[in-house]
Amino acid sequence: MRSALLALLLLTPLVAASAPEPSADLLLTGGRVWTADPSRPWAEAVAVRDGRVVFVGRDAKAARLKGPKTHVLALRGRLVTPGFEDAHMHLMSGARNLERVDLTEDTTLPALQERIREFAQANPGSPWVVGRGWVYGSFPGGLPTREQLDAVVPDRPAYMDCYDGHTGWANSKALALAGITRDTKDPQNGTIVKDAKTGEPTGALKEAAGSLVEDLIPEPAADRHYALLLQALALLNRTGITAVQDAGWTPEEVARFLPLLERARAEGKLTVRTRLTVDISPDDPATGIAEAVRLRERYREGEIVFGGVKGYVDGVIESHTAAMLAPWSDDPALGRGTPRWEQAALDRAVAAADKAGLQVWLHSIGDRAIRMALDAYAAAAKQNGPRDRRDRVEHVEAIDAADAPRFAALGVVASMQPLHANPDQNNEEVWSRNIGPERAGRGFAWRLIEQGGGRLAFGSDWPVVTPDVFRGLYCAVTRKTREGKPAGGWLPRLAVSVENALRHYTIDAAWAGFGEKERGSIRVGNRADLVVLSRNILAAPPEEILQTRVLLTLLEGKPVWRDPSLQ
Ligand SMILES: [Zn+2]
Repeated sequence: MRSALLALLLLTPLVAASAPEPSADLLLTGGRVWTADPSRPWAEAVAVRDGRVVFVGRDAKAARLKGPKTHVLALRGRLVTPGFEDAHMHLMSGARNLERVDLTEDTTLPALQERIREFAQANPGSPWVVGRGWVYGSFPGGLPTREQLDAVVPDRPAYMDCYDGHTGWANSKALALAGITRDTKDPQNGTIVKDAKTGEPTGALKEAAGSLVEDLIPEPAADRHYALLLQALALLNRTGITAVQDAGWTPEEVARFLPLLERARAEGKLTVRTRLTVDISPDDPATGIAEAVRLRERYREGEIVFGGVKGYVDGVIESHTAAMLAPWSDDPALGRGTPRWEQAALDRAVAAADKAGLQVWLHSIGDRAIRMALDAYAAAAKQNGPRDRRDRVEHVEAIDAADAPRFAALGVVASMQPLHANPDQNNEEVWSRNIGPERAGRGFAWRLIEQGGGRLAFGSDWPVVTPDVFRGLYCAVTRKTREGKPAGGWLPRLAVSVENALRHYTIDAAWAGFGEKERGSIRVGNRADLVVLSRNILAAPPEEILQTRVLLTLLEGKPVWRDPSLQ
């Protein structure tokens, strides 16, 4: 009996090996498949069964997986890549902004005003006029005024957030509603900009001061926000995105947003994988850490995952709220920006989150803030010992040269958003001017971090900029605007290759979200999250990236976007 069983056990693998492999549900053939898997970078065919990749290789070998029910898609040489992952975005505010004035395409004051006037006229019943996306360079002096907004919305409160979310533009009605007068004191970590002569609020609200008005804007009702979320997911799938990592919900937002994501999942409509983080604030980091731990226990795997906390070490360069090592170049009397944390407090909070097994994200834009984040990560690693922690610095806009190699040394992810480096008027006249040519010369130093051996994860920071992956790829590779300016690209030595940029939007982004064993590359066993592109951007001139469309987006082998032109 025993020996019979043993014989059976020994025979089993042979029997399994000789049995025909079950046929695939879906077969992609005749393509140029870029796998992001170094052991097999290119293939012709991919087979999918039960939502997983079951074969990657040559067409001839794939044919044996074709059964009577297999759906075959002939790619005719088209490029296939892993589904894109946006490593830093704000999904729910991106969704909410789909019903607000979008100012991201306007760069002059008259154009902004016209766009807002049109929106207000088209929405006479809406109690507020809200929008976002203006850039500092559109305004004389770099900041907007309430009179400029009163001129187009005199009858209702109006509030327009800057593209970076760090400065608000309120009209007189909105300031009155918020009770902001010449006597109102600045909130912690915020500035109510006041006229130097009259002392009256100008309408520009920096950092936390924006919340004084923002908190009064009615949120969309749950059903409305849900409908907008579904629109947002469709928009992301159209640009090939199959996974996003979301940069920080407050505990209140968790209560409001999580039911919407859960509803989408229950209805089978969550067509993008989500990994979420909880905000930590300098005055009470323990609350955010505790909330993240609670959620991590409930959402460890699947389409909704919690795994980290996010904090802000500084603000942004444009409004002089970033934390720099040396004073501002345009106006040294303004100082060098104030970090939101003392180093010791940051170290304590990071070490506590790390000890709880959480991944830590720190928004750090100025060179001093970047150094503070890296120092805090180094201290936590020393204190808590080795661990697969994958801590991240978000944005990394103006790095000190000495800190570039530390990303590799500490195993910290540089989470960067290529389109933030778009060399437009705002970049030239405000961003670069504020920090001067020497520091601006290391602006968005993707290549420098790559050369130091560090890992980059790319994203959009949507709604800060469009989540369109091709706009990001184009900027990463050319460092030019859509119009092709400047001719040779801005600091072209810091650009990355198309292949590396793709890697940062796929396997590296997946790694930054602890997902590389399941997604981010096209490998047997991985989930079949794939995209088919209209052009082979790895062979075409970079200009063609902007004309590239996604023809098909597959999530676990199922189409979540299909271009009508695809047969
Ligand atoms: Zn962000």
